[in-house]
Formats: sequence, C-alpha cells, structure tokens
Amino acid sequence: MGINKIERKVLSGHCLSTDDALFLFQSDDIFTMGRLANIIAEKKNGKNAYFIQNRHINPTNICVNRCKFCAFSRSKGEKGAYELSIKEIIKKLKRPGVRGQRSGIKSTHLSPSFSEVHIVGGLHPDWPFDFYLEMLWQIKKALPHIHIKAFTAVEIDYFSKISGLSLADTLSELRDAGLDSMPGGGAEIFDARVRNKICPEKIPGKRWLKIMEAAHNVGIKTNATMLYGHLETFKHRVEHMRKLRELQDRTGGFQAFIPLAFHPLNTKIEGASYTSGIDDLKTIAISRLFLDNFQHIKAYWIMLGEKIAQLALMFGADDLDGTIIEEKITHSAGALSENAMTRAQLVNLIEKAGKVPVERDSFYNSVHGCPNIK
Ligand code: SF4
Repeated sequence: MGINKIERKVLSGHCLSTDDALFLFQSDDIFTMGRLANIIAEKKNGKNAYFIQNRHINPTNICVNRCKFCAFSRSKGEKGAYELSIKEIIKKLKRPGVRGQRSGIKSTHLSPSFSEVHIVGGLHPDWPFDFYLEMLWQIKKALPHIHIKAFTAVEIDYFSKISGLSLADTLSELRDAGLDSMPGGGAEIFDARVRNKICPEKIPGKRWLKIMEAAHNVGIKTNATMLYGHLETFKHRVEHMRKLRELQDRTGGFQAFIPLAFHPLNTKIEGASYTSGIDDLKTIAISRLFLDNFQHIKAYWIMLGEKIAQLALMFGADDLDGTIIEEKITHSAGALSENAMTRAQLVNLIEKAGKVPVERDSFYNSVHGCPNIK
C-alpha cells in the first residue's frame, strides 16, 4: 500500500477500498490527496463550484434529546429556549435580510431573493405532527416558489413516533404538504460506541440509514453528513462513509456529502477542540476520493470558515452551500465564521479559487444571472 498505488487506482477510475481511505487519513501528503480529489471533482462537475441563495430557519431549540455535543438545544422553560409560531417563521422568510453577525454588512446589500429554505430544529415535546404539516403548507402558500429542504432523519423518526404513522406514511404526508427535499443532518458518526458518548438519546446510525432509504424510496432526495473531530477515530470516519456509499449504491438518493467540522464551545464533550485546517482539507479530499457515487461534496462554509471552505474547492469540494442568513446551530457552538454571506462574496470566493461560480437551485440546476454560469 502506498499513495502511488492509490493514485493509480484513482486515475484509472477504480473505487478506493476502506484500507485505502484509512491509509490516506494516516498520511500527511495532503497535496497529493488534494490534487487527486480535484481531478475527480473536475471529472464530475468540471470547474463548477456551486452555491445557492438560501435561508435557514430553526423553528425551535427546545429538544427532548439534549445531545452532549449540541450547544443549540435547550429544555422547555430553560433560559434561552425559544419557539417560533408559523406566522413568525413566514415573517422571517419575508424579511429582506439580516446583518451578518460580525461583518457589518448592511442589510440592503443582502439579496432579498432566495430559492431555498433549510428548516431543522429541536424535537419539541408538545408540538403535534400536524404543526409541521401546517408549517410546510403555510410556507408554500406564502412563498410558492421556494424549495423547502427540511427535517433531519432524527426529526422524521420523532414525527413517526408522535404521529403513530409508518416511516413511509410520515414521509409521504410531509412530501404532500410541501416538503421538497431533506438535509443530511443527524448522521453524526455511525459507530455505536462513539455515538453513545456524544448523543446517547439520538437514533442509532442504522435507523438514520433506514430513514434515508425510506425517504429515497418515496422520491425525496437528501444529503448526507458526517460530524468529525470529536471522539471518533479515522477508522470510524471511513466506516461511516462506507455505509453511506453502500446506501447510495442502492438508492442513488443522496445529492451531496457534507463533512461537518465539530465545534466544541458550550458542548459537553470533554477535551474536544476545534478541528485543524489540515484535517478539514484532508477529510474533504478523502470523501471526494472515496465516495465515488456521490455527485457533490459540500464545503459548508459556516463550519469550515470562509477561508478553509475556499481552499476546499481546490481539494475536491464543488459546493459552498449558500447565503444562509441567520445561522444559529454552529454559532451556538462557537463558529468563527459569519452567519450570512452575500451572493457577491460567494462569487468572489469561488472565482479567487480558480473555479466557475454557478448559482444553483436545490437540485444543482444552474439558475441564470450569475457571472460565468455554464
Ligand atoms: S443535535 Fe438535534 S436532536 Fe440533538 S439535542 Fe441538538 S437539536 Fe436535539
């Protein structure tokens, strides 16, 4: 085993084994990994680097789970707990934009137009399933052109429990009420022992995969994530990606893989710290090389920071996510990034990385109006 052998495999279009991926994680040769990952990214997506104009909404931070790594959640009645009404959610979505947390960007510089809303939140102890159906329905009524990407597999599991419906029926009802696609959160790390340490109340990895398979089977596209940089080993990361690759082989329902860098502030994970830039770039590059059946690898700039996310575009990533506006979850855990970016800032980051900015919709179709759009 050596990096030359892996290089030959990559260049001849062969799939990497779990041993290959583990070897790469243990190697310090990030330049070779980056170069190879960039070759694969360009084979799949040309020089395109995608972004979207989107909004994040977190309807509540009240959560019955209280995962140890989660700095966002609160218990009901606890200081800082909040819950938004459907009316408040729609009011937020109709607002032209908010000021970036540290940027001083004037709200008038933030584009009022967006094409996707990303909705995830806590598992509220009292809200019935009908509340979520009504939320989707009301958003679609108020903003019919907006794509709704909502609910992690963890939330879907919870909805199935509180509604008494099967997974397929829960997902179908949500889809019929307006759910267009799902994000990939809640996967964390599938290894049961690590999962038990960082989020003992959360559904097991097997259940997460089952829910994603059910979503794909009812025609709902999703993303997939992996939270790294806490208590897991490289082997756990590779196993996690192997399970995703296997499911993708069966369903083809994942749109993008998003490695999520752990943020330690206000969490209960003792001894954990921020990830290093090297680890971030290596994880992006290896995921691009290993997940040959994923079309897109996303460098989520909120978690990586603007500069590492930009570098990640040269290490295999082809998507930066979007304008976001009002990110709460990672910022509760000490994110050092802004909580909003303008379209112009995203275009600039991408161009400076030598890539072609492509403003996309939620299914990676390009939308018009972006410089250099293919
Ligand atoms: S990670 Fe999700 S499920 Fe866990 S406590 Fe936070 S909001 Fe709740």
